Amino acid sequence: MKYNHIFFDLDHTIWDFDKNAEETLQELYVSYSLKELGIGCVNTFIEKYTYHNHSLWSSYHLGNITKEQLREARFRLAFEDMGVCGSLIPEGFEDLYVRTCPTKTNLFPKAHETLSYLSGKYKLHLITNGFKEQAQTKIERSDLGKYFDTIVISENVGVNKPHSRIFEYALAGAGAVKEKSVMIGDSIEADIRGAMGYGIDAIFFNPGRQDVPDDVKMQINHLEDLIEIL
Ligand SMILES: [Mg+2]
Repeated sequence: MKYNHIFFDLDHTIWDFDKNAEETLQELYVSYSLKELGIGCVNTFIEKYTYHNHSLWSSYHLGNITKEQLREARFRLAFEDMGVCGSLIPEGFEDLYVRTCPTKTNLFPKAHETLSYLSGKYKLHLITNGFKEQAQTKIERSDLGKYFDTIVISENVGVNKPHSRIFEYALAGAGAVKEKSVMIGDSIEADIRGAMGYGIDAIFFNPGRQDVPDDVKMQINHLEDLIEIL
């Protein structure tokens, strides 16, 4: 076997972030009676939120805003886009979203089967960009902890992928060497270029079958493809 340590990304690779966020927002739409505030369509609200959330995360990763600023703005901007402003914005909405979403358990197809198979042959590890509380809740509620020897959460390290320090930290914690390690993730920038820049192989998880740049050497469309190649 070429590798003995496999490092996985969590969000959008194992844990189906979009599906879990959508399920949470649909629940909150009902429990906060957003229809009565004039938000007629839950999908439009989800689109607005998704747009602002992505753009604020980009700013956060660039170091332009703090976690608190991100959390304060993402739903406020979505509500404002829908014509709901100021005191009409329901109180505690963001808090409940943050507490609820990580409890959702939608994973990509065959996640458990694939991880169960791989954990019998390799040491598995997680490297996730995100906040400690949410990442721990996702792992616990989705019963993922049993597959992983070590779990690295960027908030604990102080840098996000693609920074090489987080890969260095993860490999050191795992007792792994670069030549025997591979990273699997959905982000070309954070996971693939981050890993390759540090000097380890990387497999791009590409469920949407997007065109890939030339520097992406290995890719899969389904998690279970890993059973064939690893
Ligand atoms: Mg990801």
